[in-house]
Amino acid sequence: VKELGKNNFQFYTPAMNEAVSRRMKLEIGLRKALERHEFTVVYQPQINVNTNQIIGAEALLRWNHPEWGSISPVEFIPIAEETGLILQIGEWILKEACLQNKRWQDQGYKPLRMAVNISSRQFQQSDLLDRVKNILKETGLAAHYLELELTESIIQDSKHAVGKMQQLKDMGIHLSIDDFGTGYSSLNYLKTFPIHTLKIDQSFTRYIYADPKDASLVETIITMAHNLNLKVIAEGVETVEQLQFLQQKQCNEAQGYYFSRPISAEDMRGMLEGNAVK
Ligand code: C2E
Ligand code: CA
Ligand code: CA
Ligand code: CA
Repeated sequence: VKELGKNNFQFYTPAMNEAVSRRMKLEIGLRKALERHEFTVVYQPQINVNTNQIIGAEALLRWNHPEWGSISPVEFIPIAEETGLILQIGEWILKEACLQNKRWQDQGYKPLRMAVNISSRQFQQSDLLDRVKNILKETGLAAHYLELELTESIIQDSKHAVGKMQQLKDMGIHLSIDDFGTGYSSLNYLKTFPIHTLKIDQSFTRYIYADPKDASLVETIITMAHNLNLKVIAEGVETVEQLQFLQQKQCNEAQGYYFSRPISAEDMRGMLEGNAVK
């Protein structure tokens, strides 16, 4: 028995140690990443499904560590969130994305709406509004070319969420609900939230062509959103069949590998030259 216990102990400890030490390693790395300029921003085009024109882009964070290589935001964003580092990082990408959007406008490209993900901690900041205002002022970007992506849980977890959203909306900023359909909140909030857009989560988009249940869910979300005067964007569109389904069901916009992976600002500029994909 003693030996078995010992074996169990040995069996679990290395794996646990490994996870803990990777977590610590990444946390230490994250603390230095901003000043060491290890973050970059990539942009994924958002397309109007009726015109095939690029109407916006989502800014997505990339962390490239000189030794460890590229680390997924799925892994480092939660650590940044827990440690509070997300406040500085989030502010950095917000400014960078606004600056880039303004740059494209100054270069003469048709204006885009830039979507930026807002984390829970960021949204809870009491001076969020001033921070966003300052960034718009510093970068010279008009508020209606900025969209903030919030998840249902972010909104639920914060006090005065609706008031805050209303103030952002009053400034002219667009608000969207990211990963829509994956939260457990009641749909009741949709009538009180001052939002513009529902972003259908990619877990629904994935099987719209193969699974009638997902198809009917997506169709229902689109109809409901339109009845509430909201726009709908589908994320994770990878195939022409998915796109055709969405077009048929009057979805407004789409984003996904079918059009483009998230790309550098330079590559995005190349796409804007034509301002149409496919
Ligand atoms: P998200 O906001 O839901 O972003 C969409 C994710 O789906 C991105 O992953 C994007 O690259 C990926 N994606 C786009 N099109 C397709 C497709 O057609 N198929 C598939 N399979 N995937 C697609 P990414 O860039 O790895 O980001 C993952 C998550 O990390 C994001 O999910 C977001 O929650 C978070 N994140 C990324 N950048 C930021 C940021 O600047 N701030 C915050 N707070 N979170 C961020
Ligand atoms: Ca997003
Ligand atoms: Ca999403
Ligand atoms: Ca997601």
